[in-house]
Amino acid sequence: MTVILRVENVRKTFGGVVANNDVSLDVQAGSITGLIGPNGSGKTTLFNSIVGFHPIDGGEIWFGEKKLSHRLTPEIARMGLLRTFQQTRIFGNMNCVRNMQIATPHANDSFRTMFSRFPKAVTEKAEHLLEFVGLYSKRNLLAGDLSFGQQKLLEFAMALMNEPKMLLLDEPTAGINPTLINGLIDRLRRAREEFGITLFVIEHNMRVIMNLAEQIFCLAYGELLAEGPPEQIQNNQRVIDAYLGAG
Ligand code: ADP
Ligand code: MG
Repeated sequence: MTVILRVENVRKTFGGVVANNDVSLDVQAGSITGLIGPNGSGKTTLFNSIVGFHPIDGGEIWFGEKKLSHRLTPEIARMGLLRTFQQTRIFGNMNCVRNMQIATPHANDSFRTMFSRFPKAVTEKAEHLLEFVGLYSKRNLLAGDLSFGQQKLLEFAMALMNEPKMLLLDEPTAGINPTLINGLIDRLRRAREEFGITLFVIEHNMRVIMNLAEQIFCLAYGELLAEGPPEQIQNNQRVIDAYLGAG
């Protein structure tokens, strides 16, 4: 097994709040790995630190052989490490294909490209990935007219446009109805199988994460509380207490 992401003793504070304290974890290449923990336990902060959203106050983060700490988000994205958000980030007044086209690395950052034409290959890739997530028939609809769950699928497809090696997904199933949740889980698995993408997933739906991930890390109060395969985490008394305590 190969480690694709290594978090070593990472510390992140906001004023007096210690959001991550001495967090160390390894994510195996090709795995689906989960990150759980009660609200406010520092999960999103850790993802933000990994993708260079903000500088960390201590520790190191490695992506393969490359040290990430102190690199900026666009550079990290070009290395193949991307995240999606708790809130979707799509352009509601553009159709799905156009959202996909502007999600490509070359289109990023350039307002001009929103209005320009795209190479045929980009459009074909966009349509192929829309088909992959089950949105091909909606391709010409405005993204804002999709259901919330469909918007999440679109956002996932937009991330795939960049051909990432690893995707960080922050609560991908939040606010989605059960039918679409199953569809999304199925697509995540297939993305790993077909494209070899490593997935690191924050999820507070226990049924989803226990079913999806091979390895799970649990944070509480900014610190790593437990790690292990789902069956171990599920029966870990410290994990159970952390959730009950936060409930
Ligand atoms: P989770 O995603 O596990 O719910 P977060 O990482 O969002 O937790 O938050 C961890 C802690 O850090 C919380 O106490 C939160 O209020 C604090 N925090 C997160 N982001 C910021 C920020 N930008 N400024 C100040 N405090 C923050
Ligand atoms: Mg969060």
